[in-house]
Amino acid sequence: MAVQSSLSAPLGPAACEKDAKALQFIEEMTKNADSVQEKVLAEILSRNAETEYLQRFKLKGSTHRDTFKSKIPVITYENLQPEIQRIANGDRSAILSAHPISEFLTSSGTSAGERKLMPTIQEELDRRQLLYSLLMPVMNLYVPDLDKGKGLYFLFVKSETKTPGGLPARPVLTSYYKSDKFKTRPFDPYMVYTSPNEAILCADSFQSMYTQMLCGLYQQKEVLRVGAVFASGLLRAIRFLQLNWQQLVHDIATGTLNPKITDPSVRDSVSSHILNPNPELAEFITNQCSGENWEGIIARIWPNTKYLDVIVTGAMAQYIPTLDYYSGGLPLACTMYASSECYFGLNLKPMCKPSEVSYTIMPNMAYFEFLPHEPSSGLSRNSPPRLVDLADLEIGKEYELVITTYAGLCRYRVGDILRVTGFHNSAPQFHFVRRKNVLLSIDSDKTDEAELQKAVENASELLREFNTSVVEYTSYADTKTIPGHYVIYWELLGKDPGNAPSREVLNQCCLAMEESLNSVYRQGRVADNSIGALEIRVVKSGTFEELMDYAISRGASINQYKVPRCVNFTPIMELLDSRVLSAHFSPAVPHWTPERRR
Ligand code: AMP
Repeated sequence: MAVQSSLSAPLGPAACEKDAKALQFIEEMTKNADSVQEKVLAEILSRNAETEYLQRFKLKGSTHRDTFKSKIPVITYENLQPEIQRIANGDRSAILSAHPISEFLTSSGTSAGERKLMPTIQEELDRRQLLYSLLMPVMNLYVPDLDKGKGLYFLFVKSETKTPGGLPARPVLTSYYKSDKFKTRPFDPYMVYTSPNEAILCADSFQSMYTQMLCGLYQQKEVLRVGAVFASGLLRAIRFLQLNWQQLVHDIATGTLNPKITDPSVRDSVSSHILNPNPELAEFITNQCSGENWEGIIARIWPNTKYLDVIVTGAMAQYIPTLDYYSGGLPLACTMYASSECYFGLNLKPMCKPSEVSYTIMPNMAYFEFLPHEPSSGLSRNSPPRLVDLADLEIGKEYELVITTYAGLCRYRVGDILRVTGFHNSAPQFHFVRRKNVLLSIDSDKTDEAELQKAVENASELLREFNTSVVEYTSYADTKTIPGHYVIYWELLGKDPGNAPSREVLNQCCLAMEESLNSVYRQGRVADNSIGALEIRVVKSGTFEELMDYAISRGASINQYKVPRCVNFTPIMELLDSRVLSAHFSPAVPHWTPERRR
């Protein structure tokens, strides 16, 4: 077993008594990673021994690791779909978990175009809360005096629905913010936010963002850290400020509240906290925002900010240059790694450079296994893959994360590829490499190759009457604008030059593509305003052949060459962009409602 305990320096000294306990907990969990894992698995298997799922595989009450591994299959969401559907339809028997499923968490990962439904149980809230409670004690090791001010965090709830059987279905953060754990959290000087709960809990995204921004501006000198969950969310807040600063300044100058804020609880909470006229502050913000140059705007408006608290690992890395621009190069802290299925772990060095971020999985959160990820060799059908335990991983190797949770997911493939970078005590630390099968992502949307292909096929139906077809295509996530948007390059073949599709038809093709993308994408377009209108750039005929010539000139094999369905290499982008004949945007937003299609 790869025990590395002698290599890790202990975490500390703690900033206060409470932090000392949290750090001690991290040390204990990571020093005993393997035995904690064994205990977690035994606990999960013994409490769920009578569930239909474990009985089906004849585990017969065994809590032994080897028996578990030999009898229980490694699965994906699709394998579990029938059980999930039964629970969603109201079957309350112990299908996956002996504890009642309290709600479904709607993942940003999709299946058949809809968010995956992750079953959860009440006590998982405690486990999530526990992980949250470790974040500030670690941060306090690196950044002093965070108790002397506040955090400006842009946090939002999203719409929720009920399954046919009556269980709530909502995103994990919506579930958390609406829980008493968040709403009635005890005062902690290290966790004071500028946003009132009412603003965070307001379901109207404009009112929520407006009042959170207003409160952040009012308390501008007290703000020590600025954050959102993901980088894209913080940039959306900056864009919001660009569009709305005049009205915000008006409110600050006059001590009134924009009449568009109609939610009574939000009005009350904002008014009672901050609404005194402050012409000086209004003038300061006007000076900052009225110029063309928004470089370093975050550090200028909130001059005491020590760092930005946003995830910039994985797909979010594309936003680092833009965040650096708006923040004037403030440190970026990635604090945790989590999902709807399970919260995984935290970054023990949150002030490190984004490229060096490693997450330490906390062994008490679930039972973790790792599927060696060797894309080139491929997995043989005859020999089932051997999954590796948390404490036995090898530094430098890549693995796919497989989890067994208290809520009843057994050997479930999350779809994240992680690389081991080191160990803290005996717990491995991971670089988040990527999520499998994601071609395009702007916010929490994840579009895979098959979805893109289908979208192109559906849209090109509109070209049929013009005797025109899409002969090749590729795509690009353009994040230079806020919000970012998908760009699809099309090479067309028209057989009837006198009857070419009009601009209007090509605009409609953009919308047709959007209509066939998954519900997380469409929600981003419609409700969250986190994704801009899809763009089709029609390129000259022969462009994709040039693309192939370019790839071959760089060493690609002519026999094996395949058109890349997503590009982001600058010379290729330049080649494509230099061949653009016309650009088209969706003229409207696609359909989206909180209700699921199935
Ligand atoms: P969701 O199921 O919508 O909560 O999304 C969870 C997924 O988001 C994870 O499985 C990861 O792919 C991604 N994710 C979560 N935290 C991070 C992080 N710190 N860095 C990179 N990707 C992350």
